Amino acid sequence: MTDPITQLKTGDLALIGLSSDVNASFMQGPAGAPPAIRAALYSGACNLTTESGLDLEEHPALVDLGDREVPSDAGAVPYIEKLVAAVLARGARPLILGGDHSITYPVLRAVAAQHGPVDILHCDAHPDLYDAYDGDRLSHASPMARIMEEGLARRLVQVGIRTLNAHQKRQADRFGVEIHPMHRFDARSFVPDLAGPVYLSFDLDALDPSAAPGVSHHEPGGLTVREALGILQRIEAPLVGADIVEYNPRQDLNAMTAMVAAKLLKEIAGKLLDRGEN
Ligand code: MN
Ligand code: MN
Repeated sequence: MTDPITQLKTGDLALIGLSSDVNASFMQGPAGAPPAIRAALYSGACNLTTESGLDLEEHPALVDLGDREVPSDAGAVPYIEKLVAAVLARGARPLILGGDHSITYPVLRAVAAQHGPVDILHCDAHPDLYDAYDGDRLSHASPMARIMEEGLARRLVQVGIRTLNAHQKRQADRFGVEIHPMHRFDARSFVPDLAGPVYLSFDLDALDPSAAPGVSHHEPGGLTVREALGILQRIEAPLVGADIVEYNPRQDLNAMTAMVAAKLLKEIAGKLLDRGEN
């Protein structure tokens, strides 16, 4: 069978599920996220039109590459990097469903190799800047440290953050991370001030657990879904890729967080497709 990646065209949006949670620190589960998010998206409970009116159903530029089994060892980083590089080499943009947040580091290696250092908009309760967590430098608590060390981002702008400890504060200062801490963040008026190209990384625990209980780390005091959608919809610079990570179906209630992820997927897909050619 021909690999569908070879059929991608410039400007296509490639939806890819990455089933991986070996670098999660607290509990497993996000490996099961991609099929659960797809099930919500195609459940018939919602339609596939974005809030701006773009119909994603049978959209010619939206190519679903399905879910990929990521190696559960050190091979995960090169596997993901190579997969995303192949998508980018076709002139397409990846929209990735994690998986735990560790997947974002190899994705950014591929993105920066194609586009140079990008502006990252990172929505998360956690800054994910640990030098290592439980001795794991590839931990889902560390991807942004690896990304900044390797110069893969020109700017890292973080919103939703409400767990900054002293170590991660030092890391943020060292890397010049622009943190908008949740306790003094006006989510309803925030406009991401980014020149682009922009990569969006959305950890579902950026949202308040009342809106998104299906995550491994419940961190109260987060964004509403409406606030998050507003932030995404106000991105003006060109998006070159995005991920939605850390959905944990084992923690979810009535698949409501799967539907939140599906809603974000639709709006992010709309944003990526809106941008036309590179
Ligand atoms: Mn994260
Ligand atoms: Mn998080």
